[in-house]
Amino acid sequence: MTDKQKNLLTRVIVAGVLMVILTLLPLDDYPVLRFLLFLIPYLTVGYDILRKAFKGIKNKQVFDEHFLMAVATIGAMALGEYTEGVAVMWFYQIGELFQSYAVGKSRRNIAELMDIRPDYANIENEDGSIEKVDPDDIEIGTIIVVQPGEKIPIDGVIREGNTTLNTAALTGESVPRDVKCGDEVISGCINMSGLIKVETTKEFDESTASKILDLVENASSRKSKSEQFITKFARVYTPAVCYSALALAVIPPIIRFFMGLDPIWSQWVYRALTFLVISCPCAIVVSIPLSFFGGIGGASNQGILIKGSNFMETLASVKTIAFDKTGTITKGNFEVSDIHHSPLSDSELLEIAALAESHSTHPISRSLKLAHGKELDMNRVSDISEISGAGVLANVDGHNVAAGNLNLMRHIGITAQECHSTGTIVHMAIDGKYVGHIVISDELKENSKEAIAELKRAGVKRAVMLTGDKEKVAKKIAEDVGIDEYYAELLPADKVTHVEQLLKECGEKEKLAFVGDGINDAPVLSRADIGIAMGALGSDAAIEAADVVLMDDDPMKISKAIKIAKKCIRIVYENIYFAILVKLGCLLLGALGIANMWLAIFADVGVMVICVLNAIRCLAVKNL
Ligand code: ADP
Ligand code: MG
Repeated sequence: MTDKQKNLLTRVIVAGVLMVILTLLPLDDYPVLRFLLFLIPYLTVGYDILRKAFKGIKNKQVFDEHFLMAVATIGAMALGEYTEGVAVMWFYQIGELFQSYAVGKSRRNIAELMDIRPDYANIENEDGSIEKVDPDDIEIGTIIVVQPGEKIPIDGVIREGNTTLNTAALTGESVPRDVKCGDEVISGCINMSGLIKVETTKEFDESTASKILDLVENASSRKSKSEQFITKFARVYTPAVCYSALALAVIPPIIRFFMGLDPIWSQWVYRALTFLVISCPCAIVVSIPLSFFGGIGGASNQGILIKGSNFMETLASVKTIAFDKTGTITKGNFEVSDIHHSPLSDSELLEIAALAESHSTHPISRSLKLAHGKELDMNRVSDISEISGAGVLANVDGHNVAAGNLNLMRHIGITAQECHSTGTIVHMAIDGKYVGHIVISDELKENSKEAIAELKRAGVKRAVMLTGDKEKVAKKIAEDVGIDEYYAELLPADKVTHVEQLLKECGEKEKLAFVGDGINDAPVLSRADIGIAMGALGSDAAIEAADVVLMDDDPMKISKAIKIAKKCIRIVYENIYFAILVKLGCLLLGALGIANMWLAIFADVGVMVICVLNAIRCLAVKNL
């Protein structure tokens, strides 16, 4: 509990005890003393509400829930209903306390889960001693030391030592990862076993941990439609309620007066005050943002970053999903399985391919470099240009080298030898002559099939695969994982066209998601209703272009994200309907003269507490 909460709690306890004692004391014969005594608990518990209401009036923003509470309680006191007056304030503050505790709890929850903010970095002085410095001051290319038990503060490459990393705070995945010299490491991971020296490749602000924290912190500022609606709603609703209450207090007595009856002012004023308390909108105003906050927090705990409440809403109504293939459905760990029709030796061809691809980040390029397995002399390569979704052109040892798919070969006017193996083919040409092709094969992720089935269960109607790979490969993979439709041999621009077509085919309230790995699919990620990037650790482009970021590359997380969003939206609506229903019911009773202030207190504070409790359920998403 914060100091502020403790303070409020003390006030609530003191006022509560006083209220009970004063109610029990036989003070009926001393009206002035009784009033003064009741004023003590009333002001103890409610002075800040009165002050806020007064400030609101002064700033010409009169109608908020503080104003409602102030009018209702002052009115009750004026009518001599002291216990009720104090009680309304008292319960209202209990609700406030409760809500601030719940918000604090989910905030802390997120902070704990996102406990990745590095506080310092170690650098080694010339005499071998280690010095702690502000990570903000570290320049790119500095060697930093990360000891066992410490967080890696900045993204980089290991230059010395090997160790095991705990990535749980980033991915929600508790399996530790072994890393060795030469491996890339990202900030936010915890070094579990050995001392490592890391050469930084980014600045602190640009490092993964900082980026993710930014993202989570800004998530709640992107308001969902229901939140925007509630803000607008409260702006109209609260004044409407106030004027209705005024009408209720004044019109019936006046009518009665002209009818020659006793106007019974106090009874109508009491009813109006009850009406005011019942209609206080705080349950809805408080619980909706809290639900989204909880949902976003719970999801980030699972390694799913949702960039705003608005995306939560979209995610809940996703009916069509388009997938990229490489790195999304397949592992993107290509292995060279064959080399055909080459006049060169296998190792020569691989070396040239690896050199030509040396600057590419595509998974294909990574596998070629891996298969080549030796250090590359970068001085041998120049004029590299990568043609997205097709391959690369480069100058190696003074020769023009092309490495890529059939499209690329067609583009540079070379007839390539067709290949009959199922696999992704990298055709090679040197100085305009075809020099064979490298067959590489990718594996399905273990749970791609299950992930697609799970998505169907989560209400997705249509799954489509869009790939730049060959028809044959696409067909086999689509069949293997149970994807209904696929489109092959697409350039990145064609993927955008297809997504636009799919968007047109979506129903009115149905949304389309695109899932990719962020490598050459940023345009599609941003074109879809909602872009989901997976395996995004370390890829800034993906983190930026996507609306939902899956920290690891587990395809099961896609359905999990949808389920979390659905649960969250369901809770938001439960709260809205529940609050409105109870309040309408109580208002009806009030109009019939059955409701008293105690019922009103339940309709206000009781409903708020129930809604807040319900909203907290959004945090629990682990077993969805
Ligand atoms: P996917 O849709 O499966 O993610 P991409 O759009 O990344 O595929 O690439 C489509 C095809 O373009 C690949 O299957 C490959 O044949 C070719 N290609 C793309 N980049 C490269 C590269 N760097 N080297 C060789 N071939 C490439
Ligand atoms: Mg791709």
